[in-house]
Amino acid sequence: MRPARATIDLDALRHNYALARTRHGARALAVIKANAYGHGAVRCARALEADADGFAVAFLDEALHLRAAGIRKPVLLLEGVFSADELAAVAEHELWTVVHHEGQLQMLESAPLHQPVAVWLKMNSGMNRAGFQADELRPAWERLSRNANVASITLMTHLARADEPQVITTHEQIAAFDRATEGLPGPRSIGNSAGLLGWPGARRDWGRAGILLYGADPMPEEPNGLRPVMTLESAVISVRELPAGAPLGYGARFRTERPTRVGLVAMGYADGYPRCAPDGTPVTVDGHPARIIGRVSMDLMTVDLSGLAGAGPGSRVELWGRQVSVNRVAAGAGTIAYELLCNVKRVDFDYVGG
Ligand SMILES: *Cc1c(COP(=O)(O)O)cnc(C)c1O
Repeated sequence: MRPARATIDLDALRHNYALARTRHGARALAVIKANAYGHGAVRCARALEADADGFAVAFLDEALHLRAAGIRKPVLLLEGVFSADELAAVAEHELWTVVHHEGQLQMLESAPLHQPVAVWLKMNSGMNRAGFQADELRPAWERLSRNANVASITLMTHLARADEPQVITTHEQIAAFDRATEGLPGPRSIGNSAGLLGWPGARRDWGRAGILLYGADPMPEEPNGLRPVMTLESAVISVRELPAGAPLGYGARFRTERPTRVGLVAMGYADGYPRCAPDGTPVTVDGHPARIIGRVSMDLMTVDLSGLAGAGPGSRVELWGRQVSVNRVAAGAGTIAYELLCNVKRVDFDYVGG
């Protein structure tokens, strides 16, 4: 069997959720959209269901997948619905839905629902992506509060730069949200992971914890005590001794400077390891620090085993996880941990703990 494998530590997931809730000091949705950031939404939801106040996914199909697996806790649709028909399923399965634009308001006004749904009304406080403008918020709230299809209204906004501790815009977004919602009843929600870890001023009735659940700290400058959940591993399948000056892999991106022992590893970009990871990106081989050399290909990649006399075929290679920070691999590849985690596929998934 091919040795490529993602091990998902459900105890670490539960630890991270508990930490989020303690730091936030109030209820927190566990955000498990995109198949729980690549970790497996149903397995993660089951591991968290006893502890979590609720879950959030992006859209209806993701929520129905959880309901079909027996998940009973509240599930919020962060993107809301795409058509009025979807609202019947939202009501039937007791889902919660975000309303962030005029079209969704109209869908809620026209849908013939048998039971009302809980709505999260989203304001644009400065990210300028989704949500009602400050001056549109109150009229939208009034329309929802008159609408018999609406059971309750939670007020929410989303922070654009909460992972940057120095910027002023997070304070400005929080102030804009507070101003626009002043006097309106109902619970509030502002912070994503970085918001609830780094911005005490963003704490409200509900946090929305995503990436932190998976242990990829969005604010790594101050250690927050998160534990990595996914360990992506494979093994050395063969070894080659190259002389100095030899090209290695597609495009000969890497050339040996000295005699080099090269380990061939069963992992490639079709498994979700980023093709653009540069030479020098860290890995561990049997727990020892090493680096990748040569371009990552679809099924294979190459690592420098020089100096690791004990390493050879069968040696375990960690691509990220407990020993190699996924944030570091992401930074080297010019992206973020979110994208790497979401893209893992084709490998075996093993679940431990929980
Ligand atoms: C994805 C998402 C989150 C979670 O963000 P993290 O940075 O992963 O914590 C929170 N709120 C909204 C609206 C989202 O779309």
